[in-house]
Amino acid sequence: MSTFRQIPGIYHRQVGHFLVTALCDGYMAYENFDIFRDDDHDKLAACLRAETRVTPPVISINAFLVRYDGRAILVDCGSGDIMGPTCGRLLDLLKCLGLNPQDITDILLTHIHPDHSNGLTDPKTGDKNFPNALVHVHQEEIRHWFNDEAKAQATERQKRVYFDAGRFQISPYLNGSVQTFDRESKVLPGITALPSTGHTPGHSCYILRAEDETLIIWGDTVHVPEVQLAYPDVGMIFDTDTPAAARSRRMILQRCVVENILVGGMHNHFPGFGRIRQGTAGEYRFIAEQWYHAFHHGQSV
Ligand SMILES: [Zn+2]
Repeated sequence: MSTFRQIPGIYHRQVGHFLVTALCDGYMAYENFDIFRDDDHDKLAACLRAETRVTPPVISINAFLVRYDGRAILVDCGSGDIMGPTCGRLLDLLKCLGLNPQDITDILLTHIHPDHSNGLTDPKTGDKNFPNALVHVHQEEIRHWFNDEAKAQATERQKRVYFDAGRFQISPYLNGSVQTFDRESKVLPGITALPSTGHTPGHSCYILRAEDETLIIWGDTVHVPEVQLAYPDVGMIFDTDTPAAARSRRMILQRCVVENILVGGMHNHFPGFGRIRQGTAGEYRFIAEQWYHAFHHGQSV
């Protein structure tokens, strides 16, 4: 049986003066619930069924392109060759948009993990995929993934997929093309980095403030929305520090509710835009935004 590509993987949304394009690098379909740090698999399955989702979960892997004032900014850059045949579409999608990798001016990394940072560097040549980009990332991401003591405590798979791949991917940029931050701070005009550590030691969200709307691109604040909004304390095996990740998740979710912030997420179902509300059955819920059927520059309708 043939498999057909079902979704185009490109979706534009105007957020004030920011032209934000969600890019679907691919997806991961899981065979069981072992990706969660929670043994109550009936509870996890019930969360998915309540939202009529596939169980065990299928997770989208998204990145975002942000264009304004002559800049072309990637928020994360896809998974390159490391996540298997269902992933790694980002460079093709840029081509579809008429963009060359050389056109990317900045890359905002939410964290260094294969599905977010493995698109930085060509695995065959070791050359930068984005030769003109300045990479912005929390300094703890560099410090942690280059820490040999932390690596020595990791499993063999973590050593290979997180530490080795992370070092390989970021290294070509370390000679002058990486700008780090260590607190909530402005990284580009109108764009603020908000550290939300736990999932990884320097995991960060990015907040885009436009005239009439605020967008948070929240990285891996949530991997499986149906589960982790209902139960924000449920962690993932990918977390470096699960309790800290849960505290950050709660902080971000509450802020999204109180400030009515538009959300974009790397593992929200593509295209991933929506808003957070207090839940009725669970603690929070994700209200996916309706698709804008037409797009004119400067306005989504
Ligand atoms: Zn991820």
